[in-house]
Amino acid sequence: ETVTVALGERTYPIEIGPGLLDRAGELIRPLMRGERALVVSDDQVAPLYLERLERSLFAAGIQPLHTVMPAGEQTKDFPHLEALLDAMLAARAERGTMVVALGGGVVGDLTGFAAAILLRGVDFVQIPTTLLAQVDSSVGGKTGINTRHGKNLVGAFHQPRLVLADTDLLDSLPRRQVLAGYAEVVKYGVIDDPDFFAWLEAHGPALVAGDAAARRHAVAVSCRAKARIVAADERESGQRALLNLGHTFGHALEAETGFSDALLHGEAVAIGMVLALKLSARLGLAPAADAERLARHLDAVGLPSALPAGRAWDPDRLLEHMFGDKKVKDGAITFVLARGIGHSFLSRDVANGEVLALLAESAAGR
Ligand code: NAD
Ligand code: ZN
Repeated sequence: ETVTVALGERTYPIEIGPGLLDRAGELIRPLMRGERALVVSDDQVAPLYLERLERSLFAAGIQPLHTVMPAGEQTKDFPHLEALLDAMLAARAERGTMVVALGGGVVGDLTGFAAAILLRGVDFVQIPTTLLAQVDSSVGGKTGINTRHGKNLVGAFHQPRLVLADTDLLDSLPRRQVLAGYAEVVKYGVIDDPDFFAWLEAHGPALVAGDAAARRHAVAVSCRAKARIVAADERESGQRALLNLGHTFGHALEAETGFSDALLHGEAVAIGMVLALKLSARLGLAPAADAERLARHLDAVGLPSALPAGRAWDPDRLLEHMFGDKKVKDGAITFVLARGIGHSFLSRDVANGEVLALLAESAAGR
C-alpha cells in the first residue's frame, strides 16, 4: 500500500507492507542522483537488518556505506550529530549522495537533521523500524536533536524522498516499544476518526500481539491521517498542532520522570490523552463516558491510562513543565481538547485552575 504526502514539489510516497527491506534497492534506485548511499542505523537495529539493506542496495547498483550510532535517546545530541556529519564527510559525501535512516525515531530525527544541513541539504530516505517511527516520526519532515534546554529544540523541516515502512521489521520489536507506538495509533482515532477508534477496540489486542494484517492496516490508516494533516499545515501554523493530542500533559509527565525509561514517550501520551478527554469533560465539552472508554481501551491492550501510583505527583510542578513546552505562545498553552472520541480541536483559553484541579484529582487516583 502507498500513502502519498502531498507537498508540491516535495511530494513523496510512503510504502507500507511486508518485504520492503529486501526491495529497498530497487525502490531507492530511481531517486538516486549519484552512486552512493550512506546508511545510518543504531547498534540494536544494525545487527538485525543492516546487512539485508546493504545487500539490496548493492544488488540495485548502489554503493552502500554505513555509520552505526549508539541506540537510545541520548544519541540525539550535538556531539553525536557532529560525529555523524564528520563520518559522512569522511565518506566523501556529495550533493548526489543518498542518506538512508534505518531505525526508530532517534535514528530518523538525527539522520534527517544531518541530511538537512550536510552540504546545505542532501536527499534522504526513511526506513522506520519501530511502530512509533512508522506511524509518526518518519512522516512529516520534522527532524532534530535535543539540547540541555529541552527536547527537539534544534532541528529543521526536511522532507524525505521516500519512506519504506516494512511491517515485518516490527516482529523483533519488544512488546513495550510496540505499545508505546500503539499509543500514537490510538491518537489518530481520537483526533478525528471515531470509526478507526472502534476498529482499534476490536483489533488492537491482536495488533499488539503481533497480527500482521492488523499492523499493516493500522500503519496505513495512521500514515494517511498524518499525511493529510501535514499536507494541510506543513510548518504547524495551525491544525498540525492537533497531532499534539495528549502531548502537553504527556510532556509534563516525561519531564517529571526525567525522560527516562520509567515512562516511555508513548506511555506518557496514553495517559496524556485520557487527561485531555477528562479536561474536556470537566469543562463541559465532552461526555465523561468518552474518557472512560479511552481508558478502558488503553487498559485492554496494556498501556497505562492514569498517573502511575507510587509516586507523589505535584500538580504545580506538572503545570510548570507544561509552560516549559515549546508549544507555549504568548504565555498560553495550546490544548488539544475534544467534544468526544474522534472530535478534537485546539483551544488556547483553558484556565490554569481547571488544569490544576484535574491534576490534583488524578494524582489522588480519582
Ligand atoms: P528509538 O529510536 O529509541 O527506538 C526504540 C528502541 O527500539 C531503541 O533501543 C532501538 O534500538 C530499538 N529498535 C528499533 N527498531 C527495532 C526493531 N525493529 N527491533 C528491535 N529493536 C528495535 O525510539 P522511537 O520510539 O522509535 O522514537 C522516539 C524518538 O522519536 C524520540 O526522540 C522522539 O522525539 C522522536 N519523534 C519524532 C517525531 C517527528 O515528527 N520527527 C515524532 C514523534 C517522535
Ligand atoms: Zn508523540
